[in-house]
Amino acid sequence: ARESGVNETVQYHEKLSEHIRQRTLIEVYLRTALQENQLLLHYQPQYELHTGALRGFEALLRWNHPELGSVSPSDFIPVAEETRLIVPIGEWVLRQACEMMKRIVPGSSSLVLSVNISGVQLLNHQFPALVSEILKETGVHPNRLELELTESTLMNSLEIAEKQLKKLQNLGVRLALDDFGTGYSSMNYLRKLPFHLIKIDKSFIQDIGNSTEREVAGSMIQFCKQLQFGIVAEGLETYEQLVYLKKYNCDYAQGYLFSKPLPEEQLLPLIEAV
Ligand code: C2E
Ligand code: CA
Ligand code: CA
Ligand code: CA
Repeated sequence: ARESGVNETVQYHEKLSEHIRQRTLIEVYLRTALQENQLLLHYQPQYELHTGALRGFEALLRWNHPELGSVSPSDFIPVAEETRLIVPIGEWVLRQACEMMKRIVPGSSSLVLSVNISGVQLLNHQFPALVSEILKETGVHPNRLELELTESTLMNSLEIAEKQLKKLQNLGVRLALDDFGTGYSSMNYLRKLPFHLIKIDKSFIQDIGNSTEREVAGSMIQFCKQLQFGIVAEGLETYEQLVYLKKYNCDYAQGYLFSKPLPEEQLLPLIEAV
């Protein structure tokens, strides 16, 4: 028994050092990822549940490295945040996504582009000016752009975040609260901050298939509706979840049931069908 304990400790240390090695590699390689054209965006369609109409797309970052292969954003975004590489990378994402809109979405269309914004970006003083500049540069109307922020980002420096969000609201862009339910959702700040839309985290949508937990998603939808927010369900994978979300009058959804995140070329047929 003692021997296996020692082995477990050794294995634990091996795993830990492997993890550290991987983390270091990500950091080193991420520094040149932009210049080497290793980053690209995929776009996941969002649909309005009652009409079935396309609402728009969420831009999701992809990284293909020649040695590491394809690295998941959940692995490299935290590194990008710690090293502040997310500032140039996030600027690239925003410009790239707005350029896509300009290229393939007609100006008269009401499709919405959602872009994930890290707290590090939001708290940067120049961020609202940068958003304004990119919108002018690409000619995308501010109300076509939706910025997605997570609760954890906001809680760290609530006062500065609030000021920045007000500036963004004044530009006319939409603001969405991402991963709702996973952080410290408080009534107080939900009412105080200028969000238009709430995205219910996929863990709650997955729980719909689970008899004891299923009503949590419904309660969240009702709660957000009472506060007059638009609601997006994320991670919609099954028909059962879809029926449930419709029953609760959830406004929009995105997930593998409808579509995976797609490369730009594959968006055209969806846009032409609108
Ligand atoms: P998120 O913003 O919550 O994005 C939703 C994630 O769920 C995406 O993972 C998406 O591919 C995945 N997803 C979509 N439909 C389904 C489904 O039906 N089932 C399941 N299980 N998953 C689904 P992805 O692309 O790996 O991104 C992970 C996270 O990385 C994102 O979570 C977001 O927090 C972050 N991220 C991605 N792109 C960016 C970016 O450009 N900037 C920043 N700051 N963060 C980003
Ligand atoms: Ca998101
Ligand atoms: Ca989310
Ligand atoms: Ca998430």
